[in-house]
Amino acid sequence: MHSLHKAQLALQRIQAISSPSAAVVRWLELSLVDAPSLKDIAALVRSDPGLAIEVLRRRKVDERKRKYALNLTAAVEELGVAELRELALRSDIRQPAECPTSPTGPASTTCTPLSRAHALACATAAMEIARQTHYPEPEHAYCAGLLSSIGLLALHDLYECEWREFGASIVGQDLHHLLELEREAFGLDHENVGVVLCEVWNLPFELHDLLAAQYRSIGQVERAVTGTVDAQLVSVIRAAQFAAQEAGFPLLSELKPEAPPADVARLFDGIDLQSLLETLRAAVTHATALVAPGERRPEEELHTMLEVNRELKSRLMATEQRLRAEVSVNNVLQYGLRRLGDGDPLPGVMFHAMESIGFRRICCLELNSAESKLEVSLSAASSGVSRVAERIWIPFPTDKGYLSSPTLISRNDGVAAHQLVLELVGVSSAVLAPLQELTPGKRQVLCADRGSAGSAPVPGEERALGIIADQASLLMKYEQLSREKERMATQDPLTGAATRRRMMERLEFLISQCERTRMPFSLLIMDLDHFKKFNDTMGHQTGDRLLQDLVKLLGNAVRKGDLVARYGGEEFVVLLANCDSVGAATVAEDLRSDVFKYGLTNLETYRGMQVSISMGAAQWQPGESALALIGRADAALYEAKHGGRNQVKMAA
Ligand code: GH3
Ligand code: MG
Ligand code: MG
Repeated sequence: MHSLHKAQLALQRIQAISSPSAAVVRWLELSLVDAPSLKDIAALVRSDPGLAIEVLRRRKVDERKRKYALNLTAAVEELGVAELRELALRSDIRQPAECPTSPTGPASTTCTPLSRAHALACATAAMEIARQTHYPEPEHAYCAGLLSSIGLLALHDLYECEWREFGASIVGQDLHHLLELEREAFGLDHENVGVVLCEVWNLPFELHDLLAAQYRSIGQVERAVTGTVDAQLVSVIRAAQFAAQEAGFPLLSELKPEAPPADVARLFDGIDLQSLLETLRAAVTHATALVAPGERRPEEELHTMLEVNRELKSRLMATEQRLRAEVSVNNVLQYGLRRLGDGDPLPGVMFHAMESIGFRRICCLELNSAESKLEVSLSAASSGVSRVAERIWIPFPTDKGYLSSPTLISRNDGVAAHQLVLELVGVSSAVLAPLQELTPGKRQVLCADRGSAGSAPVPGEERALGIIADQASLLMKYEQLSREKERMATQDPLTGAATRRRMMERLEFLISQCERTRMPFSLLIMDLDHFKKFNDTMGHQTGDRLLQDLVKLLGNAVRKGDLVARYGGEEFVVLLANCDSVGAATVAEDLRSDVFKYGLTNLETYRGMQVSISMGAAQWQPGESALALIGRADAALYEAKHGGRNQVKMAA
């Protein structure tokens, strides 16, 4: 029970692994490169056993159970650069510089300088021996070597104090005895620790069996070969352990090198042991140099950290900015779509853009090329910030492609046109984004800033404002087109009079209104006399001009609330609001005489042709429909024509 409790405590303590600061700094350096190469990253991971173990244990469980689960480079690749950086960053960068004689305590269980050097040497030796003895997967040998002493190292690190005493008692013991002594002293032996660690950390499946097998005699291993244990790999690791000790990186100082067991000796037969040991020493030196190039001082590490911090922060800010810009662009678009058809969208869009991008002021500048001036045509500002006055202007050089793309502008940016803009709006930096030129010759530019006391715009904001300007342009274009469409439906293109449709709408409105109020209203319908002949004599263009003059004349003569509409080719209707038949007769007679006078005035131009109209007039009768009213007036017009033209007839 006591030893079980001890074992549980031990397991709790070995959950965490931290990487040494030098590796973290190196990793951060790599992370400053936009796309660090897999080769560089894998080299870094290989140089740091703690990091390597973290990488292996973070692979997905099903991946780990695959045959090639021990491939470190594949593990690095699968993990991804971002997660690897996370991993490295989790350890404390300001860990004190490591000293070979003082292990850094429980937090760095498997990463004490001693164990790092051993693990590295062992891993390198395993890969090297695998290569030279034609073991097919040297990369697997590397990982297995890296992790082969994990149980003993963990036990040693966990019971650092107890181990000092314990160490003396194990000198010269064989493995069997050592395990027994460990169980007595710590509650569990290092084989248990290794195997349990594999499970707790989800380390590669093969390793589990491999660790249990590596200290048995090779005969036992071969007899007990199970699916995942590879007897040759076990020998390679045993040989690697031996070589690492020989090269001066003992697993534990108490464990003196022994003569190699038979299977290991066989492996060494074809290998130049001295050159292998040189390789191991070089590898450890290289790895140390790789993680700590040029013996970095703590201030330098801090410097790198700060630099990385700055870089990451600016990337984060750029992302944030982009997100904010996207949201604001979306807001502005939503706003624009909601109020489509409600008239000029620009003031609303400007206000929304200002609020959602976080500007304090925004104005629309109009570039008048003909007069070479730049004028503030619209202006908006948040509360507490003074608006740029509308209609103020500044002389501005005529078009040289100035202000034609979204730009950040500031004092001293060397562009004369920008200085003029800044002078006009009275700040030292702003963002410009042109609107599309909807009316030829009239160029408009949005100009946003944060007031003279506010902060300068930052890169990225010109793109956001640019997108908003494009959207505003589209909304304005839509508005322009729908205004055009509306105008075409309600206004006769030749004369500018109301169309028949609009006249009918107004007539229905008048009827419904007068039904309630009992106010009178009247309708005049008129037709040019002998207009066919006029056209034939003068030509259609002159005929058209006459129609235009007629509408002008009618429009000037009637009251403001009255409506002049083109009913057909040369037939017109005038709706006279609040007018009974007596009034209508007077108006009609006035109009008729006005037209006749017009003809007389232009007699010469019209080569002696008389211009006149015949007219029918009718007062609306309660309960009468629009068509009935028109019908009565039309009958009166017919009468007027038959009565000799150039006259007014009242409807019956
Ligand atoms: P009446 O006195 O009986 O009304 O004789 P009229 O010649 O005016 O009669 P009619 O209705 O036969 O002729 C109408 C003419 O108006 C025929 C057509 O060429 C002309 N007209 C209709 N619309 C236009 C237009 O938009 N421009 C021009 N120039 N002429 C038009
Ligand atoms: Mg006619
Ligand atoms: Mg006519």
